[in-house]
Amino acid sequence: MPDRWWNGAGDRPAGEAETYARLEAAVRDRDMRACDGCTRCAMRCVDGIDLSYPEFARLVRAAMAMPAPERARVLGQDKVLHWGEGAVVALCPFLDRDTDRCAIYPVRPLICRLFGYAPWLPCPTGKQNDSIEGAVEIMVEYASLERHPLRAWLRRYGLQLPGLSDDIE
Ligand code: SF4
Repeated sequence: MPDRWWNGAGDRPAGEAETYARLEAAVRDRDMRACDGCTRCAMRCVDGIDLSYPEFARLVRAAMAMPAPERARVLGQDKVLHWGEGAVVALCPFLDRDTDRCAIYPVRPLICRLFGYAPWLPCPTGKQNDSIEGAVEIMVEYASLERHPLRAWLRRYGLQLPGLSDDIE
C-alpha cells in the first residue's frame, strides 16, 4: 500500500495543502466538451515540470498504487524525442507512449489541467479555446507555492520511485 510506503512529509508550511486544493478546484469545473481526446497535446507533456508539494505527494502515491508491471511499463518507455538538427525533448515520465495518454491523469498537476484553458497553453488543434476566468491570477498564486521537478522532490525526501530513471530533468 502506498501509505505504508510513504506517509508524506511533516515539514510542510501551514495552509499549503488548502491553497493548492482551492486553486485546483478553480480549474476543475471547466467546460471540456470541445476536447475530443485527440491526444495532440501529448507532445507538450515535457519532463521536468515544477510541482507543488501537494501535487508531488499525491503523484507518488498514485504511482506507487499502480500495479508494478504497469508502472514499470510506462516508466520504462523511451521518453526522449529527437526532432532533428540536434533538437532533443524529454517527455514526462508519466506519458504512456503506447497511447499518448497520461498514466496518472486523475492526479495530474495543475499546469496539465490548464492545458487548452489558458492563453499561454493553447490547444494545438484550436478546438478548445475557452480560457478559464482568472487563469493568470491562478497561476500567480500557484507560483507562490514552493515547486520543484519530481526528481528534486524525491531527492529532498530521500525517496526513489521504482522504474523512474534519474538521467533526465
Ligand atoms: S503528468 Fe500527465 S498530463 Fe501532466 S505532463 Fe505528465 S503525462 Fe502530461
